[in-house]
Amino acid sequence: MTVARLLPAYLVQRYQGWRATTFAENRPWYRRLATEGQRPRAMVISCCDSRVHVTSIFGAEQGEFFIHRNIANLVPPFEQDGARHGTSAAIEYAVEALHVAHIIVLGHSNCGGVQGCYAMCSGRAPELEAETSFVGRWMDLLRPGFDRLPEGDEAMRARALEHEAVITSLDNLMTFPFIARAVAAGDLGLHGIWHDIAEGSLLQFDPDTRTFGPV
Ligand SMILES: [Zn+2]
Repeated sequence: MTVARLLPAYLVQRYQGWRATTFAENRPWYRRLATEGQRPRAMVISCCDSRVHVTSIFGAEQGEFFIHRNIANLVPPFEQDGARHGTSAAIEYAVEALHVAHIIVLGHSNCGGVQGCYAMCSGRAPELEAETSFVGRWMDLLRPGFDRLPEGDEAMRARALEHEAVITSLDNLMTFPFIARAVAAGDLGLHGIWHDIAEGSLLQFDPDTRTFGPV
């Protein structure tokens, strides 16, 4: 038996409001989007965190960003093992089918996934160590980043691990042969940014200094 319930009333109300205003006022544009297909210029890989609002930060319209979200905006390395790689599938489609010009990895402050990884790597989260923990096994991707953290106070190290999540993803992106090819040909640019939710600020990764600086 398939289990599902009807939408809660507050969502139905919001949908009806959108359809009567935004959609009704831009009907030809939506029709064009449907018939012409999508041609997004950029792929964004961001965290699932509900506070990360990438289309709002960049003022992006429908059709502009091909967005993939997962816990802690992580890209796994290139692995052809027949497993169900949702993130790798999204990346393959963006690059090979949509030919996006940019892939933007967007990290953020106060990331629960990264905090979980920090706790796990510090031996304070045995539940994440369990083989059955999807979050724990996913966050294993960031263990090498934890090992690279500088000495210092915990708040600084936790923030540095959020930056490491972005760097890990940038490095793993380059293990995909079709990405390395597109980057070498000048058809694709990789970008790493980190968003401070409280400050509304964006930092970007500078590959020369391997540090994050203001946008
Ligand atoms: Zn997060």
